[in-house]
Amino acid sequence: MAALSKKNLWEKTPQGVKAVLRGALSRISPKLLLGRRFRQQLAFIEQSQWWSADEARAYQTQQLRRMLALAVEKSPYYQRVFKSCGFDARAIRSPKDIAALPLIDKTTIRENLTELCTVSPDAHGVDYVSTGGSSGTPLGFYMGANRSAIEYAYLVAGWQRVGYAIDTPQAVFRGQVVQPDRNGFRHAFDPLLRRHYFSNFHMGDADIKQYVDHLRTIGDCFLHVYPSSIAALTRYLRRTSTPAPTNVRGILAGSEIVHPEDRTLAEETWGVRYYSWYGHSEKLVMTSECEQSHDDHVWPTYGYMELIDEQGFPVTTPGERGEIVGTGFINNVMPFIRYRTGDFATYVGESCPKCRRSHKLIRDIRGHRTQEMLVALDGSHICWTAVNMHDDTFNGVRQFQFRQTEAGYATLRIVASDSLGDADVRRIRRNLNQKLDGRIQFDIELCDAIELTKRGKATFVDQHLDLTATLQPETAGA
Ligand SMILES: [Zn+2]
Repeated sequence: MAALSKKNLWEKTPQGVKAVLRGALSRISPKLLLGRRFRQQLAFIEQSQWWSADEARAYQTQQLRRMLALAVEKSPYYQRVFKSCGFDARAIRSPKDIAALPLIDKTTIRENLTELCTVSPDAHGVDYVSTGGSSGTPLGFYMGANRSAIEYAYLVAGWQRVGYAIDTPQAVFRGQVVQPDRNGFRHAFDPLLRRHYFSNFHMGDADIKQYVDHLRTIGDCFLHVYPSSIAALTRYLRRTSTPAPTNVRGILAGSEIVHPEDRTLAEETWGVRYYSWYGHSEKLVMTSECEQSHDDHVWPTYGYMELIDEQGFPVTTPGERGEIVGTGFINNVMPFIRYRTGDFATYVGESCPKCRRSHKLIRDIRGHRTQEMLVALDGSHICWTAVNMHDDTFNGVRQFQFRQTEAGYATLRIVASDSLGDADVRRIRRNLNQKLDGRIQFDIELCDAIELTKRGKATFVDQHLDLTATLQPETAGA
């Protein structure tokens, strides 16, 4: 995230100096602090998001030409590939022309790591990035150090559609490690970026009560959260009949799957818009919702997205699903050209009828990386969204997660609230059995806590089986 270097700077400042600076800094706009590259990028996006389809296509063609030329000039891997398929980077007339190139995937990256690079991985300004896959092998690759300012500008441009302004304070529940104070209250304030950090690793009722009480005191703010964090906060408010703070202007929730029912419940409970986006560590495709629609609007200036069916053809029929294949415009160090992300989405259309932006629309993005799959005895996958219960099934439950180490069997781990009784456990068993329909047998195990991933994300399925070795996921809601 763009803010990282500035944030580290603040964290390293001695306490005494901080106290003096705090007052002065709170009057400086974060926009200034985020740097010139960020400001230029944001101005560009604010304007280019309204381009016509023709303008966007022309920009994409130009960016693809630039990226392909760089690849063929500097990367030994692409030199070989372009040559073997007789591809001329200068000859492309429209983005569609890159379909003549082969698809690449995680294995390609792993096996050709340095050959893919356009500069030495040891060069100045090159970072090694590792994605935090919590099962399977993590993927490592190289990126330019400038990526964060660019990506943050896209995030902010999206958030602005629902009323966020760069100097609005944020209450952040996104995997930051926050130390407790004397009273056990886990809160840290960064006056540079006007961010209040809370610990989503600590979401017991007593913790959440402290967070919500404090939230009420910080004035107009946006919640910047993982979908699982806001789901936990919402469940707490409803379970304890606590009124939602009225100073929260909106919910910005990203980086995990948004379950539509969780969104509806949060919007009802907090009385504000729940806004989401999609991105990934490789930084090839990014989407944002708009002012009026929850569909994913694909940013045409961030990268080039293709939606590809199982035979490798483009998906052009609304309602059909395909894999998100991305060619990025940001990473000049290691070009990703026609990279299979492993994420799948439903095609909606070429532009948004509500906001009139000429952005491709997709929805229901799901991926193996999210691990939200259970494996039945016959090896078929059951998507977590298909199993999830949004009725009274999980009343009395603070947190839950399936752990699976064997096809056809799973353990449902539950962190109970004080009110959970035997009748509740029987109801959980009965309702889930009804949905799973004998495809998966499960035990219920009560536990004190469910660990989040290293980045503080929650998953509903702690999956130890290799999903890529078996079948395709069922589509959402199947
Ligand atoms: Zn729209």
